[in-house]
Amino acid sequence: MAYVITDSCIKDSLCVDVCPTDCIHPKQDEPGFEEAKQLFVDPAECIDCGACIPACTSDSIVAVDDVPEDKKQFIETNAAHFKN
Ligand code: SF4
Ligand code: SF4
Repeated sequence: MAYVITDSCIKDSLCVDVCPTDCIHPKQDEPGFEEAKQLFVDPAECIDCGACIPACTSDSIVAVDDVPEDKKQFIETNAAHFKN
């Protein structure tokens, strides 16, 4: 399982600061941050700790099993960010 960031993300990077596995990208100092519409969780690195949930003031992070039907595309959008 993993957590998923959806399109209400406002890129304030508060989740990045609390993630113990450093699996939320792009960070502010990484290429692509300015262009990114939102941040993404690397599903291969997320350990489901939930630390990012209370950090997010826009309720943009959801456990993959709880992603609502109209946001399901973001499961793939998050994973796709880490494929190259
Ligand atoms: S659940 Fe934990 S490991 Fe996964 S993105 Fe959130 S803070 Fe990082
Ligand atoms: S804390 Fe929420 S709004 Fe802020 S960057 Fe993370 S997912 Fe986006």
